Amino acid sequence: MSKLGTPLSPTATRVMLLGSGELGKEVIIALQRLGVETIAVDRYANAPGQQVAHHAHTITMSDPDQLKALIKAEKPDLVVPEIEAIATEALEELESAGLARVIPTARATRLTMNREGIRSLAAETLSLPTSPYAFCDSLEALQAAIDGGIGYPCVVKPVMSSSGKGQSKIDGPADVAAAWQYAMSGGRVSHGRIIVEGFVDFDYEITLLTVRARGEDGQIETHFCEPIGHLQEAGDYIESWQPQPMHPRALQQSKHIAQAVTDNLGGQGVFGVELFIKGEEVWFSEVSPRPHDTGLVTMISQWQSEFELHARAILGLPVDTRLRTPGASAVIYGGVDGENIVFDGVDAAMRVPQTDLRLFGKPESYERRRMGVALGYDDNIDGARQRARQAAACVKGKKA
Ligand code: AMP
Repeated sequence: MSKLGTPLSPTATRVMLLGSGELGKEVIIALQRLGVETIAVDRYANAPGQQVAHHAHTITMSDPDQLKALIKAEKPDLVVPEIEAIATEALEELESAGLARVIPTARATRLTMNREGIRSLAAETLSLPTSPYAFCDSLEALQAAIDGGIGYPCVVKPVMSSSGKGQSKIDGPADVAAAWQYAMSGGRVSHGRIIVEGFVDFDYEITLLTVRARGEDGQIETHFCEPIGHLQEAGDYIESWQPQPMHPRALQQSKHIAQAVTDNLGGQGVFGVELFIKGEEVWFSEVSPRPHDTGLVTMISQWQSEFELHARAILGLPVDTRLRTPGASAVIYGGVDGENIVFDGVDAAMRVPQTDLRLFGKPESYERRRMGVALGYDDNIDGARQRARQAAACVKGKKA
């Protein structure tokens, strides 16, 4: 797409986001800056991305009929999934009928919508190193998989889940039943299926943002951002920083894995490849075929954030993945349950030098819902992390 049109006119280049949370909102802002007409879809009204898009729709995106009807009515040039819980079979149907171009591809969204598709692709089809794993449909099968080779400690996760929901670590036989129960309560759609993975005792974990974009000759080129280090709590990211220092061989192996996975998934756009690192050894964990939450840091650390990179790459435009400065992000949780909350301490946060702030504008807060992020930069990672943490700690959600 080397031509871009005028929004709200017959020449408009129109992009539909499926999922309009904080990541979708930033993609929409990046698209708006290029004069792209944007359509924000979410399961609830006034989602962050809907507040900045030209058009907003609220539907159940896991319902194939609702999804197909909306895409057929809006006829966007590109359909850009931002979340996993989408009727991906409907996207495949529309794509193969030539009725939608899905980013990066409908197949990639299907393979990554649950842990089974992507794990089987990485470990079995591509022979990439992963933790040992098994898929189980019952407590008995889980126990048998552990006894049969996965061993202790191990990690149990619902096949359909994200952000640590239903995920727990098993240290010994006494924990198995509780982990099964917890997984059954935390899955997105309760299919009663889990993955059990051997626990990887990594030194650190990274997200390697990998961008597939068109070069001058029209061929797809793969670009890597500097590795992003991050800290997880209960399966959810709380801090990230860039660049994560790495042994050159571990970085080379990380790029090799990211290239193999993204070559297979195909299409254009940003991918967040999650990897575990111990010394020079690297394990593939997961991949998002879209910007990644830990990549929020790139809004301060790169010349082009992951959102700008995604916007450019999907439109077939050139990208620049260079780092601008060491930077960090620290998550701001709601802290309270309720609608229409107010934030205290925004001024204090902004007085922390070399920081920036994003409040996502979510209409409803939960104690552990991500409502904003603080960003910091410095000439070193420790300084950047400290600044981001300090700014984040100033901001407190309160009931009005
Ligand atoms: P996930 O939802 O699979 O991205 O997992 C969330 C976080 O849990 C990861 O970022 C890791 O910090 C941790 N984790 C997941 N799987 C494993 C594993 N097999 N070994 C060690 N830690 C893990």
